[in-house]
Amino acid sequence: MREEDTLARLGGDEFTVLMQELEKGDDAALLAEKVIEVAAQPVYIEEHTLYVTASIGISLYPKDGTKSNELLMYADNAMYKAKEEGRNNFQFYSAEMTALALSKLVMESNMRKALENEEFVLYYQPQMNGTNDELIGMEALVRWQHPTRGLISPAEFIPLAEETGLIVELDKWVMKTAMNQVSKWYKQGLNPGVLALNLAIKLLQQKDFIDVLKKLIEETTCKTEWLELEVTESQIMTNPEHAIAKLKEVSDMKIEIAIDDFGTGYSSLSSLKRLPIDKLKIDKSFINNLPDDEEDVSISKAIIALAKSLNLKVIAEGVETEEQKTFLLENECVNIQGYLYSKPIEAVDMEKFLVKQNNSKSV
Ligand code: C2E
Ligand code: MG
Ligand code: MG
Repeated sequence: MREEDTLARLGGDEFTVLMQELEKGDDAALLAEKVIEVAAQPVYIEEHTLYVTASIGISLYPKDGTKSNELLMYADNAMYKAKEEGRNNFQFYSAEMTALALSKLVMESNMRKALENEEFVLYYQPQMNGTNDELIGMEALVRWQHPTRGLISPAEFIPLAEETGLIVELDKWVMKTAMNQVSKWYKQGLNPGVLALNLAIKLLQQKDFIDVLKKLIEETTCKTEWLELEVTESQIMTNPEHAIAKLKEVSDMKIEIAIDDFGTGYSSLSSLKRLPIDKLKIDKSFINNLPDDEEDVSISKAIIALAKSLNLKVIAEGVETEEQKTFLLENECVNIQGYLYSKPIEAVDMEKFLVKQNNSKSV
């Protein structure tokens, strides 16, 4: 249980847990699962091995009720549903909540297995200098090659991985795989440029993150100047003080730091000034409607000017058309990433891309 939770015994074998400050209602299922798991441990009394099960009912404030007696009554109702379902499970008062919570639990356990079975694959998307169409680097983007569902987009599983903490293991795997790949390309005489890795704030917040990073660099023989870490603006702003301190250590290792999805995260200019960053990545929502949408024109121009005055590099993501590129070049944002050049592609295809780039340079 968390510090802010309360456990009470109502009488007999009935207990109540009061969970305050729940971010999302279905988070209650996580504790319910834990209780069931703990209760499932056998109890040894003299020569007997005894088993206990728990049936758990969950009601939510204010969705199910706003008064304490209502909430208790509905939780009690839900508990009887759990008993009917064969005990040793949890039920929400509302059936949809139970379904949602269960599908998340299934997805989470599938994701754990997927990590073990190496079902995740990395795609790479080129980042280009728009003035001469030369590659400056690439971003590693993870996908889930699901055995029955096919290729699953990160938009579908990253949020849950972040919620459950599984992102820490996943991002370590991504970093290792991509760093090995880029090292290999450099050894083959290719020039992949700088590898941009998306870094979940949960991984950055791990106490041993810097050690993990150093070890990865050693194992993969990657040079720090080949690396760039992308952190989203909104994740940084959840705890800017901590992020500033941690990112400073990363930056001291001569690894570049980019702010992803810039413009969507409400950063204060004072935090921005103190962040040890090298690059702003203009969010694709501002690029989509360039050059026609007046607001997007102003916002993009403002971000480019901000980068310039803070002495930061700037790159636009999600560039799909020549018009968008022309606008960006005219406004001195030369670094471009987007479908206009290439969608994210598998390592084999990226290798062909790199060979082509090498050849066109030597001509
Ligand atoms: P992001 O880091 O902002 O990545 C950019 C997203 O825009 C990618 O989506 C990319 O495929 C997509 N994109 C690039 N160019 C274009 C374009 O021209 N048009 C359009 N419509 N889209 C474009 P993707 O690969 O689905 O990734 C979504 C998000 O998932 C990423 O956003 C990132 O936040 C997260 N993500 C992906 N891989 C990882 C990872 O390894 N670790 C972590 N922590 N997050 C990841
Ligand atoms: Mg990114
Ligand atoms: Mg982005």
